[in-house]
Amino acid sequence: MKCLRCTDVELAAEVKGEGAGVFEVDTCPSCGGIWLDAEELARMDDNLFVDVETIEYRAAKDSASDAALTCPRCSVRMDKVHPAEFEAVVVDNCPTCKGFWLDAGELDKLRDVSDRMLIRSLLD
Ligand SMILES: [Zn+2]
Ligand SMILES: [Zn+2]
Repeated sequence: MKCLRCTDVELAAEVKGEGAGVFEVDTCPSCGGIWLDAEELARMDDNLFVDVETIEYRAAKDSASDAALTCPRCSVRMDKVHPAEFEAVVVDNCPTCKGFWLDAGELDKLRDVSDRMLIRSLLD
């Protein structure tokens, strides 16, 4: 599978997580982007406090500086989405296979969203 951003760079398998939560993701050695299939996102839950699948995503406003990507699995245009209430964290999601493309640093931002959702749930 080729990188969605660099197009001529092949993605490489990289091990993420710890212990029982170890899983492999496809990472671009050039730009640091990560492709996550829908089930890989679910497995990432083991490393997060909040189930990332239960995060509600909303369509992000169009950004001229961030071109729409094409899903490497379905060849359809991916949607720009952000977790509800976290408009600054925009990620690419395939409307068909539900796979995610995370640019370098966006996995950390999703982790941060997860942490903040946990804190909020404890305060409620
Ligand atoms: Zn790349
Ligand atoms: Zn897809």
